[in-house]
Amino acid sequence: MGILSSRISRISPSATLKMTALAAELKRLNKPVYNLSVGEPDFSTPKNIQEAGKQAILNNHTRYTPGSGTHELKEAIIHKIKRDNNLSYNINNIIVSCGAKHSLYNACQALFEQGDEIIIFQPYWVSFPDFVSVTGATPVYVKTDKTKQFEPDFDDLKNKINLKTKGIIINSPSNPTGGVWSKSAILQTLDLCQQYNLWVFSDECYEQFVYNTSYDSLATLTENNERILTFQSCSKTYAMTGWRIGYTIGDPTVVAGMSKLQGQSTSCPNSIAQQAAIEALTGPQDSVVTMRNTFKSRRNLILKKLSEIDNIICETPNGAFYVFPDFSYYLGSFTPEKIKIESAEDLCMYILDSTGVVTVAGESFGAPGYIRLSYATSDDIIIKATELIKDTLSKLTF
Ligand code: PLP
Repeated sequence: MGILSSRISRISPSATLKMTALAAELKRLNKPVYNLSVGEPDFSTPKNIQEAGKQAILNNHTRYTPGSGTHELKEAIIHKIKRDNNLSYNINNIIVSCGAKHSLYNACQALFEQGDEIIIFQPYWVSFPDFVSVTGATPVYVKTDKTKQFEPDFDDLKNKINLKTKGIIINSPSNPTGGVWSKSAILQTLDLCQQYNLWVFSDECYEQFVYNTSYDSLATLTENNERILTFQSCSKTYAMTGWRIGYTIGDPTVVAGMSKLQGQSTSCPNSIAQQAAIEALTGPQDSVVTMRNTFKSRRNLILKKLSEIDNIICETPNGAFYVFPDFSYYLGSFTPEKIKIESAEDLCMYILDSTGVVTVAGESFGAPGYIRLSYATSDDIIIKATELIKDTLSKLTF
């Protein structure tokens, strides 16, 4: 028997953070590195938000705050969700956490336990299965349609929901696919959730990065939204990943449960970051528009460059800052050193070793054969990295 609890043995290290560490190591060794593995905007936090952070320190906002976040930040969240999402909620519907990852973790802890089944759509963000399994509940995977923005396969969804199903995690726009579900797909899903009285987790971290359509927060699409928990974050929207501010909006009892857990674990989110988040949510929003436009043009660039590579299939994702091409044609091929490529993981490592291009293999997202490429990087890196991938793939033989 190992020394760690069974709880810890049920989870695995984050695959995306592993690739980030590999990229950092290459950089440290002064090797060329073209990083398409990043899960964060490459922009600086906007100046007005930086200033608010500095002022927060000077004005002594450097002490513990209420465990679930300051009243002022919750007011700012109420203002933001009304302005951007047309959602109307009260203070007791809101909890601020140390990033949406923390929010989602806490919500799973507050609601799920052994015996529960939680629906997760495949491909999924790497952390969803672990959030669920650490509670003792079981993740249940549902297939999606890659030709339709990775919307649910509704036959599979209906087959997988049963009386043990307690919750469902929706992430549109999605990490890793960039897929944005249509209103009709969301409504069909919500309808099923209502029939079975499921808790709906709507991870809306990428709500501001939608390119071809407008975005509707899930809770605005149905009158019966009491069981929808909405998760948003300052991380991606305001290029604030290191500040660690995310928030949950929904049922006051769940919010109170999450607050109790948070109070006994992290005490409160960072006081300085909370002040800066008020400025992010209520100050000028033009930096968000600039980022959205830039990401859209980079998405078009990376799609064009990928279309020049033989035998990969890449759908056009409508959101986030990822593309998720299918590289399965190359599985079973051999490197110039005669090493067999058995998996997307092998292919990622071959690409990394031969070119310095860092990507993330689909296996960690429940999608063997796929590779996630992030375009949260410069046009130059996108061009160079995709050309290197094309060149190195052409050296594989069958
Ligand atoms: N949800 C999704 C789908 C993500 O991709 C991420 C970050 O990569 C998060 C949540 C967590 O973001 P944060 O904890 O920085 O708010």
